[in-house]
Amino acid sequence: MKTKIAVAKGDGIGPEIMDAVIKVFEAADVQLEYDFVEMGKSYFDAGHSTGMTAKAKETIEDLGILFKGPMETPKGKGVKSINVTARKVWNTYANQRDFRTLNGVETVFSKAGIPINLTIVRENIEDTYGGIEHMMTNDVAVGRRIITRAGSAQVIRYAFEMARRKGYKKVACGHKANIMKLTDGLFLETFQEIAKEYPDLEASDIIVDDLCMKLVGRPQLFEVIVLPNLQGDIVSDLCAGLVGGLGFAPSANIGDNISIFEAVHGTAPDIAGRNIANPTALLLSGISMLRYMGFTANAASIENALLYTLEQGIHTGDFGDRATPASNTTEFAEAIIANL
Ligand code: NAD
Repeated sequence: MKTKIAVAKGDGIGPEIMDAVIKVFEAADVQLEYDFVEMGKSYFDAGHSTGMTAKAKETIEDLGILFKGPMETPKGKGVKSINVTARKVWNTYANQRDFRTLNGVETVFSKAGIPINLTIVRENIEDTYGGIEHMMTNDVAVGRRIITRAGSAQVIRYAFEMARRKGYKKVACGHKANIMKLTDGLFLETFQEIAKEYPDLEASDIIVDDLCMKLVGRPQLFEVIVLPNLQGDIVSDLCAGLVGGLGFAPSANIGDNISIFEAVHGTAPDIAGRNIANPTALLLSGISMLRYMGFTANAASIENALLYTLEQGIHTGDFGDRATPASNTTEFAEAIIANL
């Protein structure tokens, strides 16, 4: 029997890359059934303040897994991001982003023969993303940053558990506790407490600016890095740059009851509707979703086909490689299917 998941195609390039990924899944005979839900900018515009219909919310809550394309954040004061709302509504407290060298994707590190294999775990609910801000006077804006012991503990424990499960040896905590002594201080203190429960893993901490410098110079020093929300957001885009850009950065928002799998990148309005977007990040997110759901054989065969396709030099136009002509989204997906 097929397992049902909720799918929201998203806005901009979302439908193009989601269609490409589902085509690959179907060609690989993944035993999934897709319940397409009403979620995205157009539903926000139609008056649904969370960016989804009540039926979509119910379906996602019933099925527990949402595979999602990028969604446009409506601009303007007082308007919340649909993506941030979804993470909060379902308490997907850990945002996991895996970055690794992909053969065929040329980067400074791949040229130097330095392999990258690191995972960022970003706290996904708290910090400045509460959006608690007000104008104290016309010229002074104030924002509140909330970090709780319980919120920190659940994401930090997730990072250690995931590290152990995946056979990593080191977990680092990135923070700015030297300046934000109470907020980041609490995050760090919680990390140090929880680390004691995992004596088999090497735990260390690093100030986030030093972390950025070390990541761009020697990313091989790190395996798993756990950070508060805003710092995790910035550091994970930095890591996307290390492995070739946003087109190669998958993301999983993990909660106890509902998990959301999506690419790190946004709706790419500049290239939407042209069938040239790179579906790799969404496909990699889909592969981690398959592993999370226990479809490990499917995940491995799709991953191998993707890696082989990249090694063959087949790529979309956003790759650094200018030597070989670019394929469009459909052609790229068809090449992966041919390699399954
Ligand atoms: P973006 O990631 O959409 O685009 C940044 C640049 O990267 C653009 O030049 C774009 O063409 C390119 N790019 C991104 N993904 C690509 C892909 N798969 N293939 C090829 N090129 C790709 O960031 P932005 O322009 O800052 O944001 C656009 C919209 O997306 C905003 O409304 C933003 O709020 C939203 N957004 C959504 C999510 C999400 O749904 N999780 C994440 C980030 C941004």
